[in-house]
This record gives sequence, C-alpha cells and structure tokens, in this order.
Amino acid sequence: MREISYRFREGFDAVRIVFIVSVAGFVLELVFAVISHSMILITDAAHWAVDGALEFTTMMALYLVMKVLKRFSWGVLFFELVLALLVSAIVIGTYMVPFMDYINSYVTEPGAGVTTSNPFLALVSLIGGVLTFYAFSCLRKAYAETGLEILKVEYMHAAIDTIASALVTIGIIVTSLTQSKSVELLTIIASLLFMFHSVADIVEDSVKSLLGLNIDVELKYKLMTVLSERFGEGIKIRDVDVRKIGSFYITKVEIYVHPFTTIAKLHRMRLDIMKMFREVNKMIYHVDVIFYPDTEVKRRTRSIKRRAEEKL
Ligand SMILES: [Zn+2]
Repeated sequence: MREISYRFREGFDAVRIVFIVSVAGFVLELVFAVISHSMILITDAAHWAVDGALEFTTMMALYLVMKVLKRFSWGVLFFELVLALLVSAIVIGTYMVPFMDYINSYVTEPGAGVTTSNPFLALVSLIGGVLTFYAFSCLRKAYAETGLEILKVEYMHAAIDTIASALVTIGIIVTSLTQSKSVELLTIIASLLFMFHSVADIVEDSVKSLLGLNIDVELKYKLMTVLSERFGEGIKIRDVDVRKIGSFYITKVEIYVHPFTTIAKLHRMRLDIMKMFREVNKMIYHVDVIFYPDTEVKRRTRSIKRRAEEKL
C-alpha cells in the first residue's frame, strides 16, 4: 500500500511542477499579449489558461487518490471539475471579445494591418515552447517511474503543445516579416484548434464524472464475484461502486460483517480487499472499504441467548 501512495505522491509532485510552469507561461504570454495586442499571442495565452485548468484537475485527482487509506472525496472532485469547466467557459468567453473584433476587422477593413508586427514577439512563444518541453520531459520521467496512465495522457498533451508552440513561433515570425493577414489568421486558427483539444478534454472528464457515466457495471460484478469467492459466507455485500476518473478507477465497497469482528481483523480484511481488487484490474487505485455490523446476526445471537435463558 505504501508503494502505491508513493507512486501517487511522485505523480502529484510532477504535475504540481508542471502546473506552476503553466501559470508562469500563462502570465508571460498574457503580459506580452496585452502590451502588443497580437491576436496570435492572445490566442496562445488563452490556450495556456485552459491547460492550467486541466493540469489543476489532474493534480487534484492525484492528490485525492494519494490518500489511499482515506475515504475518497467525490465532493472535492466534483467541485474541481465544475471549477475547471467554469474557468474554461470564462477563458473562452473573454477570448471571444477580441476574436470577434479581429474577424470583424478582417472582413470589413481589408486595408488594416496585422496585429502581430514585431518579430521579437516570437521570443515569448519560444520561451513558452521551452517551458512546455520542460513540462513534457518532467511528466514523461514521472510516467516512466510510476507507470500512472494519467501521466501518459498529460505528457502526450505536452508533446502536442510543444509542436503547437513551435507553429505559433513560426507563425509570429512569418506574419511580422511578411505582414500577411492570411498567415496571421491561419496561425490563430491552428492555435485555436490546439486550445479546443484541451477544452474537449476538460468537458469530457467533467461531463462523464458529473453525470455518472463513468460507472463501470462489468467491473462491478467482477469485483463482487471475487469478494464472495474469497470470503464466502463470512461477509454479506451491501454494495460495490466502481467509477472511472480519467484513466483509473475508484471503488467503494460496503459490506456487512459480524458485529463482534475485531478491528484488527477488519483492518486486515480491508488491506486484503485492496490487494485483491488491484489483482483484478491494475487501474484500480483507490479502494474505500466500509464495514457495517450485520444486525441480523446480532438479532439471531440475541434470540439464541434468550431461548437459552428461557430454558433455564
Ligand atoms: Zn494544450
């Protein structure tokens, strides 16, 4: 169990570094976007903001599963998913204002110049690209060490974004040197597509988790079978809940046990169940085991006792 918490801690630490890098990248791009009014940089800054929200949700999910022996907090997870959705909506809403202006002037004022006229602005997106590449290598290293699928998703995203940064950098240089409005528009659209890729990830994660579409019925019955095979008559299963977050599963098991079962035995059972579940599916990371006293057993023992007393 300790080994698994350790892997989560390592993954969490890596994503936290990447999140801080994202905040730095976002601030840098935003400052220069506001100063220069370059629509390419404004688009790239919006992308950084959405990616920051995405990394934040990953970071929080890892933080929650890191506490292997504590109960998984769905409330916190839902809260941060809603927060990420809200941030994305605000970013897109705010971005639409200069974007519509830009499209409007593109169509109605053919004589107006490009918004990206300084080739040195390419240095900003170049630094952004270096930061993204750093994030990529951090995440890939953490994935190699921990094997957590969620980090693989993140590092692939960082790899794609490194390419996005390179395209933006080239777009800025070519736009400012040629003063071509079509090159600028093309760069903006390409950058927007990369941003939508991030937004789609956030929306997919949130909608699935919020609507409960992430419940895995097949795995649920598999786990129930394993439980009854292992413990047989010893326990009564009240419920097994299996949900998917990103690439991993969170499970909750509720079982009735004899009311006189010792805490030491329950603790052993809990560790045993966690181990068993991970053998069924290695993507099961967090297992909450909740015990309830089997009141029927109690009633039965009581009536046996009573009958014995009556006989006396
Ligand atoms: Zn991205």
